[in-house]
Amino acid sequence: MLTNSQLQAQWMPFTGNRQFKQDPRIIVGAEGCYLHSDDGRKILDSLSGLWCCSFGHGRPEIAEAIAKQAKTLDYAPQFQFGHPGAFQLAERVRDLTPAGLDHVFFTNSGSESADTAIKMARAYWRLKGEPAKTRLIGRVKGYHGVNVGGTSVGGITPNRKMFGPMMEADHLSATLLPENRFSRGLPPHGLHLADQLEERIALHDPSTIAAVIVEPMSGSAGVIVPPEGYLQRLRAICDQHNILLIFDEVLTGFGRTGADFGATLFNVQPDIMTLAKNITNGAVPMGAVVASSEVYEAFMHGDTPAYIPEFAHGYTYSGHPLACAAGLAAMDVFEKDKMADRAAAMAPYFEEQVHRLADLKHVVDIRNLGMAAAIQLAPHPKEAARRPWEIAMRCWKKGLYVRFTADSLQLGPPFIIERDQVDTICSILEETIPEVD
Ligand code: PMP
Repeated sequence: MLTNSQLQAQWMPFTGNRQFKQDPRIIVGAEGCYLHSDDGRKILDSLSGLWCCSFGHGRPEIAEAIAKQAKTLDYAPQFQFGHPGAFQLAERVRDLTPAGLDHVFFTNSGSESADTAIKMARAYWRLKGEPAKTRLIGRVKGYHGVNVGGTSVGGITPNRKMFGPMMEADHLSATLLPENRFSRGLPPHGLHLADQLEERIALHDPSTIAAVIVEPMSGSAGVIVPPEGYLQRLRAICDQHNILLIFDEVLTGFGRTGADFGATLFNVQPDIMTLAKNITNGAVPMGAVVASSEVYEAFMHGDTPAYIPEFAHGYTYSGHPLACAAGLAAMDVFEKDKMADRAAAMAPYFEEQVHRLADLKHVVDIRNLGMAAAIQLAPHPKEAARRPWEIAMRCWKKGLYVRFTADSLQLGPPFIIERDQVDTICSILEETIPEVD
């Protein structure tokens, strides 16, 4: 058990620290679809950690690859030097992502990937002789991590309002419409919302806009699925006005939607794709930005001398050897165990069971795609975000880890989940949701 001094020492991320420290929820082990708590319980993990351990916790191949790497090469500088694992993993990721996304830049998280993609897009236009193209367009309820760029293009209000002005960015509406409530998979209404991009472009003029950044499916704001044709329409408008399209696939990358990537599922090609989470199955922090040849070649033009990097950007831990070893092992698991197919095979059952919760007290919407779902709850009349929090706390006591946001519960279990485990998630929720006020 942790001491009070230890509990007080850590300032926890995205946590109500004071409440947590009175009633801590501590995880000491994990295997398959379960977390092990410090009071000796097995807790079913309905969110693959934070959407990142999608191939199941504790994969021995990944653990062994990390241990072996730590013994041979613990760290290598990657500024003007390199090590084999980073090139090998880059090739794997390039070959897995849609053709045309050809060059992989490593980061250490989804947030770093978002900010890297934003800087890459802005630098690209300078190199193309259009330095005024700096503006970014994101979406309301979009989530691109917590660094300054990602917070600016993101659209989750509580994540922004503490911090005052951010980078200049405009936002399209979220594709949440009342007429789409309880629709399954791609919602039928809302294609017209893509046309807002035309309005924003007319307002700002395309000569000032660098890129549009969207998640092919928004996860963190509560699984917001794009209407049919929506992403294709954004792509067409970006093409028409010479604007880059960035897909943030930190959460959708490597199987979550039942396809390898959102770009594959929707058959829409972004210019830049961000990745993280499943790239190492969550075992070591890592992110990546995959750029088209067109973007990469713009940087490689001209004759900068060897001592001047083409892209003045990178992290001490970009392509860290342990992360690359974990990544290579995770990509083996992804391909050999056909993880995207497993997600696609379980998705219809998952959808069926989750939608059985539609008639429960407080439930106002359910959305899902692949192995992702959100159950939206009516706000508590006095304390807006209270219900999802209270439900999640009660679920933990009953042996289920479920993540909550201000108005919804999110489900994104490992793709290796079995039907009876899906049933357990749903029956604990069925019992618990109506218990709260
Ligand atoms: N982008 C998206 C789409 C995400 O879902 C997340 C994490 N939920 C991030 C960025 C941020 O990733 P990280 O927490 O690794 O910085």
